[in-house]
Amino acid sequence: MKAAMWAHPWDLIDEGPEQAANRLAALGIDEVNLATAMHSVQTLNPHNPERKTFFADASVYFQPDLDHYGSITPDVNATMGDDDWLATIADGFADTPVDLNSWSATFHSSSLGRQHPEATLESPFGDSLVWGLCPSNPAVQAYGRALTTDLASRDVFGTIEMELADYQYGTGYGWHHQEWFTRLGPLGEFLFGLCFCEHCRDHATAVGVDVETARESARSGLSALFEGELAYDTDIAGWLAEHPSVGRYAETRRETLLTLFEDFSSIIDPLDFGYYFKMGGLGDDRMGIEHSWKHGLDLYGLSAVLDSATVLAYHQNPSVVRDDVNATRTFFDEPVRAGILAGDPIVHDQDGLRAQVQAAVDAGANELSFYGYGVIPDRNLSWIGDVLNTV
Ligand SMILES: [Zn+2]
Repeated sequence: MKAAMWAHPWDLIDEGPEQAANRLAALGIDEVNLATAMHSVQTLNPHNPERKTFFADASVYFQPDLDHYGSITPDVNATMGDDDWLATIADGFADTPVDLNSWSATFHSSSLGRQHPEATLESPFGDSLVWGLCPSNPAVQAYGRALTTDLASRDVFGTIEMELADYQYGTGYGWHHQEWFTRLGPLGEFLFGLCFCEHCRDHATAVGVDVETARESARSGLSALFEGELAYDTDIAGWLAEHPSVGRYAETRRETLLTLFEDFSSIIDPLDFGYYFKMGGLGDDRMGIEHSWKHGLDLYGLSAVLDSATVLAYHQNPSVVRDDVNATRTFFDEPVRAGILAGDPIVHDQDGLRAQVQAAVDAGANELSFYGYGVIPDRNLSWIGDVLNTV
């Protein structure tokens, strides 16, 4: 079965790109999904020969062609400086059997959010949500198209893969320590992240949504959740049925996002366009792909736009992995890639990894993507090699 591995550039650079590629090929890995534009991160790198941890503010790992960009331009990674890690890695991989895909967290940048507070998602209360740029904003859309053009024109990738080019929401998206000691629950997380920036409001107004009623409903719902007057586990669909303006408001984002993704597809063509469906945290409670509408993602519409769909099935219980991949298969005729987290807190031994992989394969995954090269120990890498030998 075709298999990919996510990788951060520093781990490949530190080991030597060609050496790392040959090691991955020996494990049965066909492709590397290389981080090119990434959110802020601190990694633990157990087998990196040069460093055991790496911290980065949200940044890109190549030298951008600024001619493509408008008012929002990428931040070049500070540790990389004047180098171009993407170019170095592409050179190192050129004579190896391992192909490269681009992996970008397109609109998830607390650095760009700090520089452009007017372009971020905006809570129902009017707060700038620093971790994410709003896809309804024309300047953000221009940035997304420019970044995509920049990456696709490098001529080194087979697939341009993205995540978080949508209306991302929820806790856990900062580089900072978050002090969120009020229980929001799924409804509260959704409502707090529902963007009411001027562009989202304009789009909804244009199709006849009562925006002020929607915003007031979202605010009062959140206030009730804060104080326990509304249960933290209130069913979102039921609540929206009682507050239809909020549901209609959220729905209007689907068309905006679908149009933007069609632009991305045109730019990427003839390369392949892949998207990661990532809904919240880790574990069995992690929401499945059917929750994508909360991010403004129209799965049926996207099935005509995307060339592959990756479901990040990061659940401890293999039966939940199976359900998540199964659900993805029902939406997409295109290749479905199952993302398997091959380290803590999901996988702790080879049998555990095998159970995850088998569940994904049984559910109809066409390809596997493992997370991630530099952030799991050598022993976990050897488990991947052993499991790939037998699926
Ligand atoms: Zn917005």
